[in-house]
Amino acid sequence: MSIGWLGLPDIIAVLDDERSVSDLRRYFAPGAFTGSQFEALGTASKALHRDVVEAEDLIAVELLNARVPAGVALDLLQGDLGLRISDELRKIPLAVNLGDKTAKTYIEDRGPADRAWRLLTEHRGLKKAIAGKLLARKRPKLIPVYDDVVACALRGRPGYWLWLHEHLRAEDLRLAHRLRNLRVQADVPAEVSDIRIFDIVFWMRHQGDHQRRRCPGLAGFGPSL
Ligand SMILES: [Zn+2]
Repeated sequence: MSIGWLGLPDIIAVLDDERSVSDLRRYFAPGAFTGSQFEALGTASKALHRDVVEAEDLIAVELLNARVPAGVALDLLQGDLGLRISDELRKIPLAVNLGDKTAKTYIEDRGPADRAWRLLTEHRGLKKAIAGKLLARKRPKLIPVYDDVVACALRGRPGYWLWLHEHLRAEDLRLAHRLRNLRVQADVPAEVSDIRIFDIVFWMRHQGDHQRRRCPGLAGFGPSL
């Protein structure tokens, strides 16, 4: 039974564990995990098409072991869905970080990121983890990558974007600073965002142990605590 999100001290304890640096190095070792190229793929065209979902973005999502169904892909690349997503992306600056005070405007209910999310999930039926990965590809500093493994490790519930926004800002940006330290310690590539470092650490820590049904969660952070 889940008892709700991990608290900030637990999160910092996971990040402080020495496995975090070695897991990050392992993740970005050449040829180890395709997801390590999620940000890097097609860097040249990304700057030109920051508000447009392109075929390369759909391939980037596949690097994270997710797949946009063909019908939705067509609608994104040459249909009305793509135009509507672009309308929302245009309202979101590329530079805004999820830990910035202003981030809330974009991610809260009816904000442009939330509207893009609803277009993909409620209107078009895309699975939440896949929609999140697609939006993370377009706005990597603002929208976190999140899947069942990370949700289980964090004992997460709906509302992840706002939850992470608040935790990044808590205690004088303690978590945000810790992620930046990890970036330096593990030589994480510059194009990888701080919130992606967060995702990778929790995913790497739990992916080997995660069970689809009745998973006890991250070792040491079970409901008994
Ligand atoms: Zn699990």
